[in-house]
Amino acid sequence: MSFDLPIQPPERITGLVNGTASLGGGIDLPVFYPATGAQIATLTEDDETAVARAVEAARAAFDKGPWPGLSTAKRIEALEACRETILANVDELARLECAATGLVLKELRARHMVRAAYNFRFFAEYISQSAGQSYTQTEGYLTTVTREPVGVAALIAPWNAPVALATMKIAAALAFGNTAVLKPSEQTPMALARLVELLQEVLPEGVLNIVNGRGAVTGAALVAHPGVDLVSFTGGTETGRAIMSSAGRNLVPCTMELGGKSANIIFASADQDRALDGALQGIFSNNGQQCLAGSRVLVERKVFDDFVGRFRERAAKVRVGDPLADDTEVGPLASLAHMNRVLGFVDKAREDGGQLLVGGTRREDLGEGYFISPTAVLAHSNADRCAQDEIFGPFATFIPFDTADEAVAIANDTAFGLVSYVWSDHLPTVMATTPSLRSGVVWVNTPMMRELRAPFGGYKTSGVGREGGASCEAFYTEEKTTTIPTAPPALRRFGA
Ligand code: NDP
Repeated sequence: MSFDLPIQPPERITGLVNGTASLGGGIDLPVFYPATGAQIATLTEDDETAVARAVEAARAAFDKGPWPGLSTAKRIEALEACRETILANVDELARLECAATGLVLKELRARHMVRAAYNFRFFAEYISQSAGQSYTQTEGYLTTVTREPVGVAALIAPWNAPVALATMKIAAALAFGNTAVLKPSEQTPMALARLVELLQEVLPEGVLNIVNGRGAVTGAALVAHPGVDLVSFTGGTETGRAIMSSAGRNLVPCTMELGGKSANIIFASADQDRALDGALQGIFSNNGQQCLAGSRVLVERKVFDDFVGRFRERAAKVRVGDPLADDTEVGPLASLAHMNRVLGFVDKAREDGGQLLVGGTRREDLGEGYFISPTAVLAHSNADRCAQDEIFGPFATFIPFDTADEAVAIANDTAFGLVSYVWSDHLPTVMATTPSLRSGVVWVNTPMMRELRAPFGGYKTSGVGREGGASCEAFYTEEKTTTIPTAPPALRRFGA
């Protein structure tokens, strides 16, 4: 079996600086369509020199260009132009994203691209309401606090939802007057390359640039460049450590949106049908490749067997296949190596004393693509690798619990702390549980509700800093305190 390509991508993908191809200078990297395993494009890697040129372009746009000093009204116009550009090109961008990620096209069109456009609208609205501060605490003086753009932002995006995640960073960086250099994952460069090409047509020269290549080469060169003032990273925890260490040498502030191993706690007092839908959505949407997945499903023992039985039945019926088909629910995983890693956790679960509940195999009937059956295991304990490691695929790990305290203890017994889910219609249970959960986000009786004004980010190794309205404003601006006397003040006259 083979599947049609969503779009014929350009044969070669390059970075883009000031509307022209970046210098490259590195090796050629293949880009594959995950649904067939076929190479569909070649990426030119940007080496240190090419990265430096992109940073210099962003630097010049910041240091000499009008961008940082633009009026709010003009910047809102520019953000709105970015939004309209995305909306006018949803189909092409979604198809390019599908071709590199294997995510379901219908979802990319309806959610990811719409969200990408909304990211620009959100920050346009946010800056239209931004308020300043002034103080007159000391008589005869007016002190104002203004927020000013920081400079050049290095924006590093992962492969699991490239456009949706990168546009949050781009929109925020630009809204607060910074210029930017974006580095997508080398596996999924196509939609972001096209997006930046389109946005460069509506933005002033140098404001937004893109470099491409491997993280260890292009990404590392970008983070280490002395012309970079900020780093915003979404990706794995180990990569986050490396990036923060490198940025730390230049004393450059970072936000880190890292991994997760989120507990989805289902009490007997929950609406079991809704909790089941929520658990399935929590682990199988976006092909299971999301930091916020509810990947550890903790179910109260008195409903455990029934809940797991129904989950298995539904998981076995999830439609896996062609990302272009409207009824597909789960597409292929992002790469061959990633698929093998995800499937490797079935053996790890067994070795650690757990048991396979459903799935656990490659869907060879679907050809050479990286398809697996939606999978669930019963862990022997929360110490198992399938309960501790981020698997990042359509792979749920089930664990029973008896009391709310036990559920919280299991939920918190992880190096991560991104999201927790709680399902219960008993208010005291919800109120007793949520404050004890060590995660940056708690969703009660709903999966994945992202409120952009609210901070999003993780405790522990799930992140440093937050993304969201005020959190982004704090990160992407410097605060400046200016004090002016309202009349000439009496000065001490040294040496008079
Ligand atoms: P990686 O950490 O491997 O890579 C993320 C990005 O960083 C890629 O662009 C990568 O480039 C780049 N990179 C890798 N090494 C370096 C380096 N030394 N210096 C600079 N850049 C580097 O993550 P994945 O792409 O594999 O994404 C999956 C991970 O992202 C998961 O762990 C997931 O939890 C996390 N994630 C977190 C989210 C959150 O909001 N908390 C949201 C989504 C994902 P390249 O790929 O080209 O090597």
